[in-house]
Amino acid sequence: MKDSLKHQGMRNKLALTVEAKGIKDKKVLKAIKSIPRHLFMDSSFEDHAYQDKAFPIAAEQTISQPYTVAFQSELLEIKTGDKILEIGTGSGYQTAVLLEMGAQVYSIERQHELFKKTSRFLPKLGYKPKRLIFGDGYKGLEEEAPFDGIIVTAGAPFVPTPLLAQLKIGGKLVIPVGDETQIMTRFVRKSATEFEKTEYGDFRFVPMLEDKN
Ligand code: SAH
Repeated sequence: MKDSLKHQGMRNKLALTVEAKGIKDKKVLKAIKSIPRHLFMDSSFEDHAYQDKAFPIAAEQTISQPYTVAFQSELLEIKTGDKILEIGTGSGYQTAVLLEMGAQVYSIERQHELFKKTSRFLPKLGYKPKRLIFGDGYKGLEEEAPFDGIIVTAGAPFVPTPLLAQLKIGGKLVIPVGDETQIMTRFVRKSATEFEKTEYGDFRFVPMLEDKN
């Protein structure tokens, strides 16, 4: 698989679609225009890579819909150099978006197959996260905390307390909360003990699962 002008053209269109749906952050739109999403998918789905849809990847997981990736990334309000923790590396597409936006990225994945595959794949495209971790995102990543932002890319049945605890003051947790469908929720840390919570409507994710290591 490789990249081509045709793919570039489709990505430009995809960025316009996502913009038309309400995404304004220029860094997010530029990332969508830059990242060869078709390379993050199984070749059988390559033709669909630039539709604004989620698709299956390995281990019964999905690559999130571009609009959803853009929506969550915009809510993080990333500045260059921000330290961001991602829960649910999956295909690495969201990781690549965060890197294109100038963040330092730490990402945790609980499926070993995906962890291995994406750990090998991202550097091949020139994407260098600070760390990819095989483990349980419910615990966050205490040794690297605090973070400017934490993004959860699986549907969380509840808000894990360690994730709130690992935010800087002013830091943001963006997390889809719920069982069948999820409400996109953002917590902004106002002080050691106060969090401002805002809800942003319904989304649908694969479930955030408890540790099976
Ligand atoms: N960001 C990914 C989305 C993948 S789907 C992408 O753009 O492709 C969600 C991912 O979260 C899956 O890979 C799933 O295995 C992972 N996941 C689910 N529960 C988890 C947990 N407790 N800790 C870490 N990863 C988890």
